Amino acid sequence: MVSREEKRLHMVSSQLVKRGIKDERVLEAMRKVPRHLFVSESVREYAYRDGPLSIGEGQTISQPYMVAFMTECLNLRGDETVLEIGTGSGYQTAILAELAGAVYTIERIAVLSEKAQKVLCQAGYNNIQFKLGDGTYGCSEKGPFDGIIVTAGAPEISQVLVDQLKDGGRMVIPVGTRYSQSLCRVTRNKGGIVKEESILCVFVPLIGDHGWKNN
Ligand code: SAM
Repeated sequence: MVSREEKRLHMVSSQLVKRGIKDERVLEAMRKVPRHLFVSESVREYAYRDGPLSIGEGQTISQPYMVAFMTECLNLRGDETVLEIGTGSGYQTAILAELAGAVYTIERIAVLSEKAQKVLCQAGYNNIQFKLGDGTYGCSEKGPFDGIIVTAGAPEISQVLVDQLKDGGRMVIPVGTRYSQSLCRVTRNKGGIVKEESILCVFVPLIGDHGWKNN
């Protein structure tokens, strides 16, 4: 029988390295974090498959490749302060906590936030702070941030979030319609921004005052 660790290592080589993920720190974090602990028992056997999975409440844990790609875009080196919008299962949060100094993560659905907190606390992470609420406001009281990652699809690049980036800080955000988006990396540069568009993606909508207005 193939162990979960073997499945995880295979996920990294076949889904991430083969598709061009190069940052060795990102690959190492994805080899380490037990993705199966972030999904329910009923779908655990699919945890290392090449796709998103349901986490309940109509939400998903993103495809491993998408998690790796977005994380690589942030170019983390170890001491950064990062904001994540959309805690979801907490899996992406764990990857960030492996790679940055401090992680702030916001989720709007209480039951998901509570589940994620439980798993991440049991796993021993002590550099994560959780917030429940509308993440489209960001978290200005803890900023400015070296990196912001938005793990839900937004209608536009919100100035509210850009304003919470340090100069030189990066934000990764899927932008488009409710049903399909392009992944954008936004680098704050002397008050302006540099925007780079990369892959197409499909995320659940970012619901909030500076996102989509309803479910
Ligand atoms: N990073 C997550 C993971 O690894 O499981 C993926 C989460 S899922 C694709 C997107 C999450 O964003 C959902 O849990 C959803 O409830 C949350 N979300 C949507 N709009 C939000 C908002 N305005 N503030 C905070 N969370 C939001």
